[in-house]
Amino acid sequence: MTTIQHAAANLPERSHLTAAQGDPFGNARAQLRDAVTILGYDDGMYELLANPRRELTVAVPLHRDSGEMELLIGHRVQHNVSRGPAKGGLRYSPDVTLDEVRALAMWMTWKCALLDVPYGGAKGGIRIDPRHYSCSELERVTRRYTSEISPLIGPDHDIPAPDVGTDEQTMAWIMDTYSVQKGHTVLGVSTGKPVSLGGSLGRATSTSRGVVHVALAALRSRGIQPEGATAAVQGFGKVGRHAARFLHDAGVRIVTVSDQYGAIRADGGLDIAVLEGHVDATGSVTGFADADPTSNDNLLAADVDLLVPAAVEGVIHVGNAMQVKATVVVEGANGPTTPEADRLLNAAGTLVVPDILANAGGVIVSYFEWVQANQAYWWGADEVETRLAKRMLTAWEHVSTHAEKLQVPLRTAATCLAVERVAQAALLRGLYP
Ligand code: NAD
Repeated sequence: MTTIQHAAANLPERSHLTAAQGDPFGNARAQLRDAVTILGYDDGMYELLANPRRELTVAVPLHRDSGEMELLIGHRVQHNVSRGPAKGGLRYSPDVTLDEVRALAMWMTWKCALLDVPYGGAKGGIRIDPRHYSCSELERVTRRYTSEISPLIGPDHDIPAPDVGTDEQTMAWIMDTYSVQKGHTVLGVSTGKPVSLGGSLGRATSTSRGVVHVALAALRSRGIQPEGATAAVQGFGKVGRHAARFLHDAGVRIVTVSDQYGAIRADGGLDIAVLEGHVDATGSVTGFADADPTSNDNLLAADVDLLVPAAVEGVIHVGNAMQVKATVVVEGANGPTTPEADRLLNAAGTLVVPDILANAGGVIVSYFEWVQANQAYWWGADEVETRLAKRMLTAWEHVSTHAEKLQVPLRTAATCLAVERVAQAALLRGLYP
């Protein structure tokens, strides 16, 4: 089935770095607290926004191919639905916790509000290492999980999408399971589906395209022209891989990339197309012939113009933030920088483009996919790309102007803009007794 799950099957266990570090939900709440304080809302509004609207934890029993039975645990969290149906990815990872899912759901609420797509925020996760399961086992896990969370999901309720460890095949299984239960095909229940099954052209690369649109704008805002600039990209999955390619296409020299198995470096620049062939064949960037081995720690400390963390949460923390030399950090991943590290980077003058802006391209084109599915009318690739670029660059302008006006970092400006929109929607709707 997927390159993620099968090409990597023979690789060694994950490095200690794979586990997300820190406390993502605590970090998300700290960012919210800052925004609520600046906006002048009271503690009641903070509590309303700091706590998820709904959470469902489900047991997912699985018959392994061997005949043994195993029990997996899954979650679906809807953080806020004031502005529309809940929207957010589904993560398959051995590191999934309820608190991580809560944080990711909250960030989805802000992201959707910031980009002005008519959704609230949600996230799902199953605690599973997909590399150790066959395709048919993963199908059974996905279908059972979908069935268990079916009271929550639906095109008008909550719409899952791919995240770490899941892909378009996972979304096809979710769509099919939900549709079979309903007795008719419901294309709008998930996004990030295969194009041949109601997916949108451009969705698979949309997060990365969005990352690169704002990365190039951010570099230029610091007087750095993309042609000849240097970059480091952490993570070579659905986000990092295409981001590296699009940056390379824009003339940026990618000198170091990594994945959960290790990192590689080539000061003259990596040939991303050749590297992609190596990753398809082996499941990892490690062992690439035209580069030297290095480490994720070295990647984060690389002397480059642009750093794109595109793997997991908490990788830039108080212990390594001062080693970051990049002029611009663009958060392809959700929550890669802890609040303490964020403060250190800001104090050092590093421009940090926050996740809720930088990686919003995925949810924008998920929104386009949902619109197309609900109308049963499909757009061309150029239309998707033009609309995506316009939304990303408009949001970039909006956030950077607001940061300038308030004299605050981009993250604070972006979170304030988003929280204000969600709070206003909540106030206008009022409290149903
Ligand atoms: P993925 O599973 O396709 O790829 C993750 C990559 O990160 C893999 O190359 C993996 O080997 C690597 N990795 C994992 N742990 C690592 C570590 N500790 N150090 C270095 N590399 C590590 O996942 P993805 O969809 O590319 O998601 C990456 C990040 O982007 C996540 O934070 C996700 O929430 C976020 N994101 C994804 C999308 C999307 O559309 N897929 C949209 C918005 C945000």
